[in-house]
Amino acid sequence: MYKRQPSDRPMPGERDALSWWLSDPRVPQRLPANLREVWRDPGSREALADWLHRFKDSEAGAEIGGALRTGRARREAGFRVRVGGSGLPLVGAMDVVWRSTGAAGLWHVRDYKITLPSGAPDELYRSQLAFYALAVRELAERASEKGAGGGKTGLTKQNFEAVDVGLIFLREGGLIGSRRSFPRDFEWDGLRSRVLEAARGAALGDWPARTDRCRECPWAGNCPGRRRGRAPRASE
Ligand code: SF4
Repeated sequence: MYKRQPSDRPMPGERDALSWWLSDPRVPQRLPANLREVWRDPGSREALADWLHRFKDSEAGAEIGGALRTGRARREAGFRVRVGGSGLPLVGAMDVVWRSTGAAGLWHVRDYKITLPSGAPDELYRSQLAFYALAVRELAERASEKGAGGGKTGLTKQNFEAVDVGLIFLREGGLIGSRRSFPRDFEWDGLRSRVLEAARGAALGDWPARTDRCRECPWAGNCPGRRRGRAPRASE
């Protein structure tokens, strides 16, 4: 598929084809510098193409594709939220977020992972998803306040009933993992307290390294606090 370059005048339907996009010679210009070398490696591109084709044909891919086609989904949706109205703004970006058309106030958030499910740092990923759920909840609540808004998430006032979060493991062809629903009557105050406590600890430096997690940690390769004497995982 990579021998052929996309033409300026694609055949009908061709521009929508994943193969057409993957063969676009302009792709490297759009990548961060550290990924261009990876892209130039034919083996890496073939592996990526395989992941993306299987993801496109998966249930998760169809779900996200449907939301994107209707214009309801936002990708790389950045947000900034003051949890519980505190003075501490927290920022992040959801890989993809969309609002359901079938059920009023139902939101979906997905985060892409290239780790294998067996090597995933579960607690870390579950915490990340819980934080995204809280961000959706907070933004929906505050979107009507003067000067506040849902940012690129597209949230509007009083349209929150639940948020369904989950990971998408691209190496597994779009397998969904850690899926969980946070309903309106979830115990949000407890989650707010945990998020604020973690954020304050990180900001003040009062956060000792959890070296019991180094083996599963995706940042172990660059972390000065990493526990020594243990071989890093192959994926590090
Ligand atoms: S590698 Fe560093 S960041 Fe990761 S778990 Fe170990 S101490 Fe924490």
